[in-house]
Amino acid sequence: MKASAYPLVDADEAAALVLERTPVLPSEEVHLADCFGRVLSGDVLAAADLPPFPASAVDGYAVRSADGGGRLRVAGESAAGRPFAGELPAGTAARILTGGVLPAAADTVVMVEDVEQGDGWVRVPQGVPAGRNYHRPGDDLRRGDLVLRRGEPLGAAELGLAAALSLPDLPVHRRPRVALMSTGDELVEVGQTPGPGQVVDSNRWALLAALREAGAEVTLLGVAPDRPEPLRTLVVEALAGHEVLVTSGGVSVGSHDLVKPLLESLGEVHLGRVRLRPGKPFTFATLPGGRLAFGLPGFPVSSLVTFEVFVRPALRKMQGFVTLQRPTLPVRLGYTAQASADRTEFQRVTLRREGADLVAETTGSQSSSRLMSLAGAHALVRVPPGERGIPAGTVVEAVILSLPG
Ligand code: AMP
Ligand code: MG
Repeated sequence: MKASAYPLVDADEAAALVLERTPVLPSEEVHLADCFGRVLSGDVLAAADLPPFPASAVDGYAVRSADGGGRLRVAGESAAGRPFAGELPAGTAARILTGGVLPAAADTVVMVEDVEQGDGWVRVPQGVPAGRNYHRPGDDLRRGDLVLRRGEPLGAAELGLAAALSLPDLPVHRRPRVALMSTGDELVEVGQTPGPGQVVDSNRWALLAALREAGAEVTLLGVAPDRPEPLRTLVVEALAGHEVLVTSGGVSVGSHDLVKPLLESLGEVHLGRVRLRPGKPFTFATLPGGRLAFGLPGFPVSSLVTFEVFVRPALRKMQGFVTLQRPTLPVRLGYTAQASADRTEFQRVTLRREGADLVAETTGSQSSSRLMSLAGAHALVRVPPGERGIPAGTVVEAVILSLPG
């Protein structure tokens, strides 16, 4: 095997280099129906007070508090969407329903449970306080308030707020369009029975899910053979409609590893080897038109770990996320983590609660072909290179993928 021409780059430096070269995608106006998970490209201010009018919080009677104790004629009704017309005359009450407008001159709402009701009249208690049981205009939001910040992802509550402010479309960053391709003559389609030496293309489905979770729009290119020409044709065609190319396989230094030379010929390769385990042959290139290409290693765990470390933060930057990294939490190691001599290792662990602590246990053999080391893992524990490793009982900051129930 020939030696690689690419220097081994420290994992943190490599991650920073990828982000430096990653553009933020432009903004577009998108209807609320399609905004879930998108990221605002501008601040949203309240154009009006919310609620816009004094709105009853209960079913009951709107009165002038000074009229408490007396028998009050029921002068009419204020239901949601059907206000009482005009001012409430002194000595009268208006039946009011939740969401109804407090009639002018009324200053309080008495709950239906607290009134004595007769035929066409009600009696509310003496000394009933003013200002009860209704929301004042602007209680929830004042006109001009900063409601949603740029960089904030849009979830259910944020979309509800935008709708309440009567904004049908929001300015959000475009989603990256990603072309995903597996490489390798040994690969067969899922559902087929592999012949001698063949392997099912599992990376396609793992990376499709990972890409979607990261917010990308994905085009599946299928499998490219280990021959330069068809590989090149597939990649060149795909680049037309996509900002990002993600490949798996074909990046180590064997004679069938064709991705690096192809990317060299199309653009500029910035990373060809990183001090990362798993994932040493990770490759990153920029292509004309501000496009990015990620050549992930073929081993299934390597492809997903390099996706986590390099691709996911880049896709989030493209979409305008302020937070690019997953959250971390302190966890106590329930096992002794052996270190790799010269590479930062991301070990896969499960977590369990022990009182107020989270305890991390290894998922077993950390072989880069063993997807069982990642399936069901709650977190990644970063083990710096060197001889020392991390003794059991040490508390470390782990990258949280999911939390135990
Ligand atoms: P490569 O990086 O192309 O040398 O591939 C390294 C190892 O990963 C080989 O054992 C491949 O068979 C395996 N591999 C490559 N691509 C895939 C894939 N798409 N799905 C599952 N395994 C793969
Ligand atoms: Mg291969």
